[in-house]
Amino acid sequence: MSANKAIKLAVIGRGLIGSPAARHLSKMGHDVALIGPDEPADYSRHSGVFGSHYDEGRITRRFDPEPFWVQMNCAAISRYDEISAESGVEFYREVGVLHVGRSENPNVTSVGKITAEAEILCEAYSDTRLAERFPFLRSTAGMLGYFEPRNAGHISPRRLVRAQTIAAERAGARIIDEPALGISESGSGVTIRTRSGGVDAERVLVAAGGYTQSLLGQSLGFTVYARTVAMFRLGAAEVQRLAGMPSMRCIGPKGDNPYILPPIPYPDGQTWLKLGGDPVDLPLESEADIKDWFKSGGSIDVADGLQKQILDRIRDLKFEERRVVPCMTTYGDKDLPCIGPLSERVAVAFGCYGKSAKCSDELGRLGGMALLGEVTAKLAP
Ligand SMILES: Cc1cc2nc3c(=O)[nH]c(=O)nc-3n(C[C@H](O)[C@H](O)[C@H](O)COP(=O)(O)OP(=O)(O)OC[C@H]3O[C@@H](n4cnc5c(N)ncnc54)[C@H](O)[C@@H]3O)c2cc1C
Repeated sequence: MSANKAIKLAVIGRGLIGSPAARHLSKMGHDVALIGPDEPADYSRHSGVFGSHYDEGRITRRFDPEPFWVQMNCAAISRYDEISAESGVEFYREVGVLHVGRSENPNVTSVGKITAEAEILCEAYSDTRLAERFPFLRSTAGMLGYFEPRNAGHISPRRLVRAQTIAAERAGARIIDEPALGISESGSGVTIRTRSGGVDAERVLVAAGGYTQSLLGQSLGFTVYARTVAMFRLGAAEVQRLAGMPSMRCIGPKGDNPYILPPIPYPDGQTWLKLGGDPVDLPLESEADIKDWFKSGGSIDVADGLQKQILDRIRDLKFEERRVVPCMTTYGDKDLPCIGPLSERVAVAFGCYGKSAKCSDELGRLGGMALLGEVTAKLAP
């Protein structure tokens, strides 16, 4: 199919991957409908679908142990300014990322090797130098840290989705603010069923995050897992003390390897420090499981463990309030997202591994290319 001819396309899922797919396809001149609901106002009363982007903090960085993800991260980060310019929405803060762990851990030392090979600027600090550079750390003896100062920090996933949606709309996309209830494919096109009627398109990209497989009615080899985040509200003095804090990836055994976001202002007018890192993977087998998980509000046990970990890592941390928040991630077994065609008219783009926010613009772009027939093989499974 020629990329020069405008094609009537639909993208299902107005999240981190679907919204950039719609932006890129609209900018190419295609006639795009972007279908998906907003964030629910009240999880406990919501009867529809949920997403993984209802937050203000996601770590962004170019480093990844795998070259594929380094490539995705670099491509997406290089377009952050473009997305902000097209939408008028800021979503990125370049505060850097500290990768830190015990100096004998090969997953720590490999950060130095991989960043050097990939020409990603990274500064190494150990023991007392680590303590001097990052005085908020509680313990640095025997620790090694690699600090990525540029093209790294955090993004607001909520604001990024808003930015991508506005940019897609400005490029001509039509936003349909409701869930897709089903997809039927025929020789002449696809019809997406919604509560307010059918949306007809020549092709459809399904980028519905944790709901992708259930909406398609087929397994693509990915599992949806429950995730719990603990958030700590800080007073003015703590916000000031931690003003220079970067995002952090603590490297260690599962359950002792939290990721930590520095203090970030939230829509409630307060500043919250956030961390996550579940010790056990709890699979969510069905849409009903996902709904129950989000309605449950997350795991208090996991949040208790996270609270201990933040107090172990940040010197003398004082917080005013704790909040527990549920989320979900999708994992396959190849550390690759699932992007590619499923049939002549249906393509798919999802698979998050807890790290696809930062590079979602590139994953969405690839999803769009798959829909146009220009990415012919599914990346995974
Ligand atoms: C706790 C947590 C922390 C994370 N931290 C990081 C991080 O620090 N850095 C990072 O890069 N990544 C991080 N991630 C991962 C990142 O948030 C995900 O990779 C990303 O959200 C995946 O994008 P997606 O578009 O596949 O899914 P989503 O963002 O969930 O979007 C899917 C969209 O599809 C919609 N949808 C579902 N069903 C339907 C339907 N039937 N019809 C229409 N729409 C539908 C949903 O409403 C949703 O808006 C984290 C994830 C979690 C849960």
